[in-house]
Parts: sequence; C-alpha cells; structure tokens
Amino acid sequence: NHTDKQTVSGEKDMLLNQDRAFLWHHMAPHNDHPAIFTESDNVYLTDIDGNSYIDGMAGLWCVNVGHGRTSIAEAAAKQLNTMPFTPMTNSHKPAIQLAAKLNDWLDGHYRIFFSNSGSDANEVAFKIARQYFTQTGKPKKYKFISRYRAYHGNSMGALGATGQADRKASYEPVAEGFRHAAPPYCYRCPFGKEPDSCSLECASSIEQTIVWEGADTVAGVIVEPVITGGGVITPPESYLQKVQEICQKHDVLLIVDEVICGFGRSGEAFGHKNFGVQPDIVTMAKGITSAYAPLSATAVSNDLYESFKSGGPQSHFRHVNTFGGNPMSCAVALENIDILEREDLVAQAKSTGSYLRAQLESFYQFPSVGDIRTFGLMAGIELVTDKTTKEPAPPEFMQQVLGYCKQHGVMIGKNSDTVPEHNNVLTISPPFIISHEQIDTIVETLREAITRAS
Ligand code: PLP
Repeated sequence: NHTDKQTVSGEKDMLLNQDRAFLWHHMAPHNDHPAIFTESDNVYLTDIDGNSYIDGMAGLWCVNVGHGRTSIAEAAAKQLNTMPFTPMTNSHKPAIQLAAKLNDWLDGHYRIFFSNSGSDANEVAFKIARQYFTQTGKPKKYKFISRYRAYHGNSMGALGATGQADRKASYEPVAEGFRHAAPPYCYRCPFGKEPDSCSLECASSIEQTIVWEGADTVAGVIVEPVITGGGVITPPESYLQKVQEICQKHDVLLIVDEVICGFGRSGEAFGHKNFGVQPDIVTMAKGITSAYAPLSATAVSNDLYESFKSGGPQSHFRHVNTFGGNPMSCAVALENIDILEREDLVAQAKSTGSYLRAQLESFYQFPSVGDIRTFGLMAGIELVTDKTTKEPAPPEFMQQVLGYCKQHGVMIGKNSDTVPEHNNVLTISPPFIISHEQIDTIVETLREAITRAS
C-alpha cells in the first residue's frame, strides 16, 4: 500500500512537472497548481489525489447527460471499427441520420452543415449569410449585429461578434463587419428602466443600430436566447420576438446561437423555443454530443439553402472542414440525443432547474447577492458590494467564493471576461441527471462560501 502511494505521488510529480514545462492551459497559461483529473462518473470528477468534485458546470456547460455513459463509448467504438472517416464532401450514415434527427428537434426544415466547435458553427453561419445575400442580388449586406456581453467564440469572426472587451484585448483588429447593441440586461438596464416602465428599448437599440448602419448593409443579427457565459442574462419574455420582427422588417437574418442553450439546457429542446421564434439559422455545439466528442452544426433554413442550388458555378458553399461531421462524432451525437429522449432529460433539466431556483431564493438575504437569474438548468448569481449602488463584487471576493467551493468538492463557475470589474456573476450549470441531493450539496457549500467571504 505504502509503495502504491509512492508510485502515485511519483507519477503526480512527473505529470505536474510536464504540465508546467509543456502544456498551455486555456485561459490560464501560468496555472502552477492545475487540478489534474483522472476519472469521472455521473456528476463527479476525480483528481489525481483521489479527491472527488461535483461538476457543477458540466465542464463548460456541456456534459449534459453526465459522465460515465458507456453506451456513448460503445457507439463511438462501433463507428471507429466500422468506418473511422470519410469527409463531408461525401456522405455517411451517421451524418445523414443526425441531420434528420436535428430536424425533428428543431421542428422545422433546416439544412445541416457540420463542423467541429461552436466557433466554427458561427463562422459558417456568417459566411452562409453573406453568400446568401451576395447571390440574391444584395451584395452590400455583410454586417452582423450582436450584443455586448455575448460570447460567440474564439476565431476572428466569432470573436468579432463577441461583445466582451477583455476577450479581444491584444487580438484586434478582429474580423471586420461586426457591430454591437445593448444587451437585455434588466438588473443593470442600459436604458435606466424598471420592469414596469420597460418598452424593450434593448430590442429597439438593435433596430436603431440596423438603421444607423444602413439596413442595406446588414446581413444578420446574432443572439443567444439567454446570454449564458456573459452572466446568465435572461431577456424579457417578448424580447426575442421583437428582435425577430425587427429582422424581418429590415430583411436581416436572425441567427440564434444555441451552443449552450441547445439540447435541453434551457428546459426546452432549444432555447429559442421558449420564446416562440423561428430563426433563419441556428448554431449548436457542446450539448450535441454532451462533449463526448467534438462536433457542431449550423442549421440553415431551406429558403436560404435553395439559393445555393440555383446560382452559377460559384453558388455552392465553398467551405470544407476536415473533421466536421466526423462519423464517430455523429454516432456519439446520435446516442447522446437518444439518451436525452429515452430518459426524458429535457423535462428533467427543466424541473431540476426549478428546484435549483427554489433553493437559491434565500440567497437574496445575503447583502452581497444582488440578482439571481435562472433559466432551464442554469443559474447566474450576481454578487455586489452594495445592493443599492450595485457595485460589482471585486475579483478577490469571487475567487474566495469559488476557491472555498472547490476546496469543498464543488466546482462552479463565473461569467467570462466581460471587463475585469464586471466578472461578478457566479454560474451553475450541472449535468441534467444531477439529483436534488447533489443540488443541495452545491447550494449549501455555496451558502457557506458566501457567508465566509462576506
Ligand atoms: N457560442 C457560445 C454561446 C458559447 O458559449 C461558446 C463557447 O463557450 C461558443 C459559441 C464557442 O464554442 P467553442 O468553444 O466550441 O468554439
């Protein structure tokens, strides 16, 4: 036993040294004490020391069916043994079946273009939108409007759409043609309104931006149904419908980024279904495979697709992606979606989300909890130093809370780099299979963490 422990600690030291010498961590290159995870099951991750943690963010809002799904591993192995690869310039059974399945989930008629990541899916959406207008006689329509605080990905176009200043620092200029409007951020309404005086000025600001830019230069508006990574910013109920009306009025495409909200996270099949809109383009990733394999998709309305069939020699979409639509990833997605259906996990996400909301309600008693926003199975808890001034809680406070939780076996997150002084939203987005008892553990650990930090 003693020798076993020595071996483990010897391996750990070696891994740590190699990590420090060779590995470049995402978002944190100088992480001297990374948690090295070795195993996972259900909602738990285990680190190299044998400590167990609740994966309260489902990784990065993505391991929706939970860890340890052997049927997904089997589907992956079966596909690898049958046919590991043929590109999407050809066709294959899992991609065909998955495209049909996504149409069931979307309740619409969409063409599905597969890629690898959420960023890819959004880049594809932008390129398809631009080409659509070019080949239908409106080549000046090339701009996209998104909202401040939104995250749409890391590549130059997707980063262009992203409305978080800190993400872009050091990388500008990003792709040209992206403009931003105000987010539907009721807690800090950019128009100084209260719910009873709100006339959806945030939606109108999108229209104003279209008009000021010149509607004949705008190709699309891209929105997440709920701004997730930017701080779980839930819009007023009729906001998205108004945005859709504005898009229709100005011949602008509505692109809905479902990278996080899709596949049940919002409590419905897709986030936009909560708001009764029918997007022109839907992008998705993460939950499509519950992150068991990389895959993303851009679903494009049939009307748009038709224009790619009828033009001249250049009218096809000149975009290929080696790994996009990888057969194993598609097989994984099919089994993942089958699990969601078999176990009725979308409904479960919704009801567990309501339970989480109810448990969090008492957090309003904390002087540091300014706002609690929930949607489906996700929560954002906005921390402040003063409820009246709403001054955001400082980074040290956030770190103390997150650090305590992690030390006590609960991993939750915070909003991404909007601007440093506004990274004050704690986020919770667990796997859909999480039990009420496991939710209680998250909530009670967090309660203790905020109490101690206050
Ligand atoms: N869109 C949204 C809403 C996201 O949250 C993310 C990633 O977090 C992306 C796009 C980019 O996805 P990926 O990291 O797979 O490129």
